[in-house]
Amino acid sequence: MKRAPSVAWAIGLGAAIAGFAADVPSAQKADVDAHVAKARTAAGDDFRAVFDRLCVPPAPAPGPSPASSTAAPATPARPARATWHADPVKVFDNLYFVGQTEYSAWAVLTSAGVIVIDPLFDYSVADEVVGGLETLGADPATIKYVIVSHGHSDHAGGASFLQDRYKARVILSAEDWDLMDRTKASWKKPRRDVVAADGHQVTLGDTTLTLHKTPGHTLGTFSTIIPLRDGATRHTAAYWGGTAFNWLGNRAAYITPERQDRFWFDQYIGSAQRFRRVAADAKADVLLSNHTAFDGSKTKLPAMATRRPGDPHPYVIGPEAVSRYLTVAEECALAGRARVP
Ligand SMILES: [Zn+2]
Repeated sequence: MKRAPSVAWAIGLGAAIAGFAADVPSAQKADVDAHVAKARTAAGDDFRAVFDRLCVPPAPAPGPSPASSTAAPATPARPARATWHADPVKVFDNLYFVGQTEYSAWAVLTSAGVIVIDPLFDYSVADEVVGGLETLGADPATIKYVIVSHGHSDHAGGASFLQDRYKARVILSAEDWDLMDRTKASWKKPRRDVVAADGHQVTLGDTTLTLHKTPGHTLGTFSTIIPLRDGATRHTAAYWGGTAFNWLGNRAAYITPERQDRFWFDQYIGSAQRFRRVAADAKADVLLSNHTAFDGSKTKLPAMATRRPGDPHPYVIGPEAVSRYLTVAEECALAGRARVP
């Protein structure tokens, strides 16, 4: 179901696009505009946040500086709890949100323990993931696997804590284990453990998750297919593991003579197309992210609290909407690629 974008949004967007249009030749501009228009249509009102993040071009990147020399986003020291704490939410019978205000961590409950996906920062993992499981009545000591979508501090920062305390197996791609090795980090990195390839299946008890390599945000980003239960009804989530076009801002960590903007956009475009097919084949009807802004968690998590038996599930959006989300990602990447000289 597509809804028309609001007038205020359309006006703001038009201004943003007009702002950069003067810099590019007209044929190129037409190409960019066509992809942005497709993305805007796919976004509707429900995926406006991811459209705004990916399709509105950032200000020109500054030159290399000491601040941009690490591969990961700048790690906040230890921000005050009041600035990031969020309460845990049981979203499906077998999926708990155990994240913070802006970053999501997810716990998949199985018949043989817990699989954690993207365990936040080092400063928040104990509070949100461990505390969240306890609050919802699950035992964090049964965490058996930690899937890290990619090796940035906002998702990988808490992995070593779970590895050390619970002997949980930590899973990343080879590329992103390497990325963490290269990262000068103020946080404790996990010891290299499970090196997963494309199609890697994580089976625990009655549940199997499938990891699909979707390079772009990083070279080894994983996106994951997750089976879900809501009472007697079964659903499937498509979890998009890395969203932003990091190379536009953090150029020192991404752009090399062999890997220019075009390389990264091409990787991202191919991944979005491929994962859209994977999600369709899996009949995924739920779209999840590791950032609360992108998948609507900022409104869907509160909506869970007032959901009554028989009400529709806020996270169940249907396969068509899952496909639209990945089309926004693809078309914004195509627009970005068209902007590259
Ligand atoms: Zn990231």
